[in-house]
Amino acid sequence: MKYINKNLSIEKVKVQDISKKFGTPTYCYSYGQLKKNIDDFKKNFSSFAPLICFAIKSNTNVNLIREIRKFGLGADVVSIGELMMALKAGIDPKKIVFSGVGKTTDEINYAIDKKILLINAESKSEIIEIERIARSKKKIVNIGIRLNPNTDAKTLKQISTGKKENKFGVDEKTFFALVNYSKLSKNISLKCLSVHIGSQILDYKPYEKMLKVVDKIIKKSNHKFKFIDLGGGMGISYEKNNKKLNYQKYNIAIKKFLRNHKSKIIFEPGRSIVGNIGSLISKVIYIKENGKKDFIILDAAMNDLMRPALYGANHRTLPAIKTNQTSKKIYEFVGPICESTDKFTTLKKFQKLKEKDLVVMCDVGAYGMSLSSNYNVRPKPSEILIKGSKMNVIKKRQKLKDLI
Ligand code: PLP
Repeated sequence: MKYINKNLSIEKVKVQDISKKFGTPTYCYSYGQLKKNIDDFKKNFSSFAPLICFAIKSNTNVNLIREIRKFGLGADVVSIGELMMALKAGIDPKKIVFSGVGKTTDEINYAIDKKILLINAESKSEIIEIERIARSKKKIVNIGIRLNPNTDAKTLKQISTGKKENKFGVDEKTFFALVNYSKLSKNISLKCLSVHIGSQILDYKPYEKMLKVVDKIIKKSNHKFKFIDLGGGMGISYEKNNKKLNYQKYNIAIKKFLRNHKSKIIFEPGRSIVGNIGSLISKVIYIKENGKKDFIILDAAMNDLMRPALYGANHRTLPAIKTNQTSKKIYEFVGPICESTDKFTTLKKFQKLKEKDLVVMCDVGAYGMSLSSNYNVRPKPSEILIKGSKMNVIKKRQKLKDLI
């Protein structure tokens, strides 16, 4: 995304033209950036050619997932709906892993029938349920066990998943007990150890620590795991001067780990694949003065982009057309929803805005549209995929008549 003759443009299309054609608020994704992210991700770990399972939860648009599939990626799913979506996008079941602490009987049934690669179980009860269903179908089902490595991901508390107090995975003692249980079972085959310590991780050291724990546990378990699923969590730069995850160091740590373990590595990245491909275009409805601060009331709200309200996330915000006038006021960008948390960002220095101007929130491709809701009976925005100068609607704006 860059300014071409003062017009903010996504690939070769002006934000203003997108708004004219499709209205606002609208999510836009750059195909070029998607391709670059996937190419870079593959290059970073090319020496051991991992299976990359895109975390569907980060973006559930079936047409976008279809594009991701064309690059050879599989999927990480956490519900029957996500599994159906991955299959609908044509993802090979043999490249699908199923994570999550609360898979229901129906979900396990469906996953077994679809012959997916792995069901990554997260408790003893779940393993017993998978075994029961597999027995009733006279099948042997491949499973993984998710380990809780009690490793601090050094990220936001709300998106940390690898500490003892988090609900995810099982502790070391339970892990060993479940390995032994699985070995004795006729209907489950233990193929994988999985971990996922959190999201938006920018420091490689937690990953190093996690690998040390996994190394120790595999040696102690005396089991040969065909797959080691290291989850996702690779962070992206939301602010211009955000530090970047050192992929080289992470890669070195994995290569070292693989010297002792001849397993296939699986990754489950979401944010690092789609985070920076997305922008949310929104129009200023009103500007409301409030002393030193003006409220910039946008037509996008927390139901369209939940991350700021949910965990205080900040998204870079840019004007669609650059002028040389700076506002003397502090701007607080808010939505029209009846909640004080319906607020995107507060900026001390921004270009002077007027009503009906367009602004763009950046890096909303992950956990943007997928976390959206119909709160306040607001239809969900349209989604557009930009490829060079082409604009393709990959999801139509919801209609009010379908909500009422
Ligand atoms: N795998 C699992 C099990 C997850 O819970 C998540 C996200 O929470 C992911 C993968 C994707 O994480 P990210 O989008 O940070 O790469």
